[in-house]
Amino acid sequence: MTLALGAAVAGCGEPAKRPNLLLITVDTLRADRLECYGGPPGVGRAICALGEHGTRFQWAISAAPYTAPSIASILTSQYPATHGVTQSAISYLRQNAITLAETLGAAGYTTAAFISNPVIDRSRSFDQGFDVFDQRMRQRERNRARYVERNAQATANSALAWAQVGAREPWFLWVHFQDPHGPYDAPGAAQTRDPPNALRLKVNSTHSGDGGIPRYQVLPGIFTPPAYEARYLDEIRYLDPHVERLVQGLDALGDPPAVLLTSDHGEAFGEDDFYFAHGHSVGLDQIRVPLLWRPSRPREGNVVTHPVSLLDVAPTLLRVAGLEAPTEFRGRPLPLAETGVAHDGERPIFSEHDHRLAVISGDTYYARDRRTLENDERDSISGGRIRPLPRRSARLREVGPLPDYVLEEVAVLEKTLAEYLDDTRFRQAARRTDLPDGAREALSVLGYLE
Ligand SMILES: [Zn+2]
Repeated sequence: MTLALGAAVAGCGEPAKRPNLLLITVDTLRADRLECYGGPPGVGRAICALGEHGTRFQWAISAAPYTAPSIASILTSQYPATHGVTQSAISYLRQNAITLAETLGAAGYTTAAFISNPVIDRSRSFDQGFDVFDQRMRQRERNRARYVERNAQATANSALAWAQVGAREPWFLWVHFQDPHGPYDAPGAAQTRDPPNALRLKVNSTHSGDGGIPRYQVLPGIFTPPAYEARYLDEIRYLDPHVERLVQGLDALGDPPAVLLTSDHGEAFGEDDFYFAHGHSVGLDQIRVPLLWRPSRPREGNVVTHPVSLLDVAPTLLRVAGLEAPTEFRGRPLPLAETGVAHDGERPIFSEHDHRLAVISGDTYYARDRRTLENDERDSISGGRIRPLPRRSARLREVGPLPDYVLEEVAVLEKTLAEYLDDTRFRQAARRTDLPDGAREALSVLGYLE
């Protein structure tokens, strides 16, 4: 949708100069694999540094465990049930959706996007509101199938080249890096070997990670979780300096932007016996993501431990720009010195999957099967406390057998989920009838289509 409204003015007299804004989304970046979220030392050093003079959100929850619906939620501040982008590759973002880029553009921002994953390209209307939408990806070949993607070096180069030729300020730049998404084939990564005595996984004939290695993830000669995890960490190590280079390059050009970095979803590394995959459930391994905020002017850093939703990203950037969020936006500005918003109590945060729904309320996580909830049956529930991580060495703790203290809250959570379902019962995905030429093959290599 195109907005005709003019720029809002912050206060009386001279309009305040609006800040440049940089939104970085990293595909498949699981929070607890970064050092600042308890991951291995040194992994994601530059990414973590973004929060050191800003804010690190310890529990950020994506609206879906899958790329397209999650990214659409970031851009529209709507849950997938409302914006209509589902896990189906033929769903797309409706033209009447109101996006962050449209809202900033209407207020005078120059808007540009550099993406590196074909599932969020122009053919699915993810370009809504962008003056520049750069989806130039390299044709690559894997197992004799052609596909496209763009690595971090090329993505950062393209974005910097755009900025260097004089992007008119204020600007909003969205950069989506693809690297940690499988297959884990980081440029220049060292050879990996299976450690002796490690669990050896079977190779699945499909893209499912159920009990084995998804077909699209298979790397020659390795079969164990530690070897694949090492290759995943190599992707983060490869990406990290390019994030730093992008931010430093933009800082050097003009007014340093305010930077928000997050991910669209995590990745399973054996949770519930799923390996090297996402999109099959709404476990915290898949929906907990990093969220780091670097203001345009450095300040003392802080950490926010209560859960927040990625629906809050768009309202946050608008607030920092001095703009009102459209009434359609469901999120709210994050609690930051720069938004002037304090933590104002708990609210339920949802994440949805075609078959399963999760709610996080306070520090309680609760998930259940969508169908059994609709039919008022009891089945397949999971829940538990999420814990703020007090020490760097602490690991993610989450789902287990449902403890008594959660059972006491189940009635409330059930009602919350039922209300969410009622709200969205009549949803209809916006679907196109077929995919553009070559898209089926390209999406299959990345595991999006069988
Ligand atoms: Zn993704």
